[in-house]
Parts: sequence; structure tokens; C-alpha cells
Amino acid sequence: MATVLLVEDDEFVRSAIIRDLRGRSHAVRSAGRALDALREIAHSAPDVVILDLGLPDLDGAEALKMLRAISDVPVIVATARDDEAEIVRLLRDGADDYIVKPFSGDHLNARLEAVLRRARYGAPSKVVRVGGISIDSERREALLDGAPLDLTRREFDLLAYLCARPGHVVSRKELLTEVWRQSYGDDQTIDVHLSWLRRKLGESASQPRYLHTVRGVGVRLSPPPPRP
Ligand code: CA
Repeated sequence: MATVLLVEDDEFVRSAIIRDLRGRSHAVRSAGRALDALREIAHSAPDVVILDLGLPDLDGAEALKMLRAISDVPVIVATARDDEAEIVRLLRDGADDYIVKPFSGDHLNARLEAVLRRARYGAPSKVVRVGGISIDSERREALLDGAPLDLTRREFDLLAYLCARPGHVVSRKELLTEVWRQSYGDDQTIDVHLSWLRRKLGESASQPRYLHTVRGVGVRLSPPPPRP
């Protein structure tokens, strides 16, 4: 049993899916437009999203990108196009699974349960520690020397990404792709977030403790030497 957000503009298809999923005791909310769905997710995240790709207000791939910018909720894309290149691209862009229309209720429910299983049991909670920083990605909690850090979502993702690779130089391009999920963009965006993060870690670029800029390459997070 799960809370499902169904994003589908076709009223006939929508009510059929809702009826079927409710019959299987899922709690179903629905939206007919991508922007309404994004608002809904930002307000209260469901357990899983079923996202139709042909929506009136936004292209499905665009909607998926915007959704991924605000939430890690599992997404099954429902597509009428049985187009392999498109499906590969969507899975790369953050879809967890896909289903080709028309599909049966049994088929959708099986996909839904598989995605939920992976989401629930696939990523065991693991706390990563680097020096005095500890990151719990599941609870989205970051501590510095035992005190909670008040980070924005992006700052948290950035810190978590760097903490998972202590001592390694990570390029801006990699951060852009992996943390921002963009294939192109402005180095300045990353530099600005790094400087905010530095401030929250109580350090500066000129006097780094954890975050070390490697000129012309990127940034490295390393534990500071123990204080004398
Ligand atoms: Ca549609």
C-alpha cells in the first residue's frame, strides 16, 4: 500500500488507473498538468509518482528534470512512445522505471511494487563521516562536530557528494552533472554554493579546513589535521 501521485491529463485513462490502484488499497492523488504535480510534490511528497509523458503544459522530459530538482521520489514514466532512445534518456534523467501504454492494472501494480521495494530496501541508511562531519543521507542530516548544520537541499547534496569521495579532487563539471543533474551550466553557480557551504562549515577559501580548491581542476574535501 502506497501513496501514489498519478500525473495524467487524459481523464478517461486517469480515472481508470485511479480506480484500479484504489482497488489495490493504494492512496491515489492525481494531477492533469506537470506544474500542478510539481506543486503537489513540493507540498507533500508521495511514495511514488506515475508520470505521463504527454502533458499539456510541459514536455515529459522537462517535467522529469524539474521534478528531480526538487525531489528524489521514485518515478515511473508512462509513455505511449515505445522509443528505446527516449526511454534510455529518461532513465538517465532520473526515471526509476517506465511502462508503455496501454498497460494493464496488474502490470502497473507490479512495476509500482518493484520500484517501492527498491526505494525502501535498496538504499540502507549509512552515515558517512569525514573528520568532524557526519552525513546521514537517508535522514538528510548533516552534523559538524556533533552540531546540526543548517543546509539547503543543494548544499546538503553537495556536501554529501564530496564526503562520499574524501581526498579526491572533484571537478566542477562532475558536480554539475552529479549534484545539479545538468549537462552544462555556469561554474559560478557551483562556486557560490561552495562559498556558502564553506561559511556554514566555519571556514574560508583562504583558510580552508575541509574544502580545498584545486585551482583549474575543482575541489577536494579532506578531514583537517587534528587541532593542536
Ligand atoms: Ca497524455
